[in-house]
Amino acid sequence: MKKISILGSTGSIGKSTIDVIKNHPDKFRIVGLAARNNVVLLEEQIRFFKPEIAAVYDDEAAETLRRKKLPVEILSGEDGIIRVATHAEADTVVSAIVGSAGLVPTHEAIKSGKDIALATKEALVMAGSIIMNEAAKKNVRILPVDSEHSAVFQCLHGRDMNEVDKVVLTASGGPFLGKDIAELDSVTPEDALKHPTWDMGRKISIDSATLMNKGLEVIEACWLFDLPPEKVEVILHPQSIVHCMVKFVDGSMIAHMSVPDMKGPISYALSYPERFGGVIPKVDLAEVRDLTFFRPDEKKYPALQLTYAALRAGGTMPCVMNAANEIAVEAFLESKIAFTSITRVVSMTMTAHKVQKTDSIDTVISSSGWAKETAKDIVENSELRIQN
Ligand code: MG
Repeated sequence: MKKISILGSTGSIGKSTIDVIKNHPDKFRIVGLAARNNVVLLEEQIRFFKPEIAAVYDDEAAETLRRKKLPVEILSGEDGIIRVATHAEADTVVSAIVGSAGLVPTHEAIKSGKDIALATKEALVMAGSIIMNEAAKKNVRILPVDSEHSAVFQCLHGRDMNEVDKVVLTASGGPFLGKDIAELDSVTPEDALKHPTWDMGRKISIDSATLMNKGLEVIEACWLFDLPPEKVEVILHPQSIVHCMVKFVDGSMIAHMSVPDMKGPISYALSYPERFGGVIPKVDLAEVRDLTFFRPDEKKYPALQLTYAALRAGGTMPCVMNAANEIAVEAFLESKIAFTSITRVVSMTMTAHKVQKTDSIDTVISSSGWAKETAKDIVENSELRIQN
């Protein structure tokens, strides 16, 4: 029986994780649950799973839940989330808190020796060297939950990394694949939230439309598989059936295919090294018929160039890129800036940044804070601000 804590149990990944676990009550037990503020769903989860520990990030939401007289103490704030992440009973922590808020709890979970099923890519984007070093020191396994990285992990299984020539991550291209660059200036948040193949949260849906999500995934792949940036490539593949391709030095290539459903990678991260049956429907290639691929247009998707620039700059730059993007996406969702200004805000923030070494979590957090303030200032006080 594997004992699991879920950080971000009411989000999109959290809910899929709960589905996977419900199907295998003989294999898993939930010992900890943490969410940001969705008390209605969290209450339901607590009553069903009766965890040892539960936390809500938002203080007011925690107070609401405490009044429900649940069979578990409700903790709150970042401290509460960390206590769920480090609870003695848990073997594996599913790290699925959206954005930079997931970094510290994930780091603490690793420090306390928990295996990590990692969906929060920001932890590696912001503090890859710290996270990977700590995991190696504590002999902690980081199992990717991101679909592309789970795919790479499965293709690389048992391979010598010297045999790997390139790792290619696929991107659906998001809802604007068929649009010209000129049309992108006037797209609305509603347009951007309509993802053609994946059903995801708001932030990641916008990141998919700009390809910033793929950029963050390139950085994530470099850390997870110890690859230099030039060995990680991105290709557009609108059907989202092939999740990655690993090219080997002898010219052969192994690809990973499945229907686009996060329950696949979540289940593999939890069951590894086993595979469970009946997780997701099987792909019928005769039904799919066409698998198409094309190179992303760098002008249309500047997020990819920013990613490789951030990787080349190293240190705190990927963290700054990520933080500026969080603010820019928020500003776009609030109709303060145009869709095409998202990457402009990121680029301007990166230009203003002096790179530091990522020698501690504090350095990372303060760079992230600096980038958020700088990006906010650009949103409010530059020509990018839409005047309503
Ligand atoms: Mg992904």
